[in-house]
Amino acid sequence: MTRILDAERRWSCPNCTATAVTRGPGDRFHACTGLAGLLTPMVLDGVRCEVRAVLREDYVGGEDVRHDGDGRPVMAVTVTRDDGQDRVVYAPTAHVRRS
Ligand SMILES: [Zn+2]
Repeated sequence: MTRILDAERRWSCPNCTATAVTRGPGDRFHACTGLAGLLTPMVLDGVRCEVRAVLREDYVGGEDVRHDGDGRPVMAVTVTRDDGQDRVVYAPTAHVRRS
């Protein structure tokens, strides 16, 4: 008997040549060379989708935000499939000074 949770899963990225093979549940991420080094989800082989970065268009000010390898502030990476959408959000980080 084959346990489903141990099934091999093959991952790839539509924006670069990265591939991976995993066993068990969970997602797979990589630093995508096609998206300027952003930490990006990989997709299961055979899934038609678009993976794209969502640039931040409002004022950054003093917030600590994620930048891609080209120095652009990025809000999220969106994976759009035929049957839905997933999003990785890079939330700004707050800073506190202790006096
Ligand atoms: Zn990639």
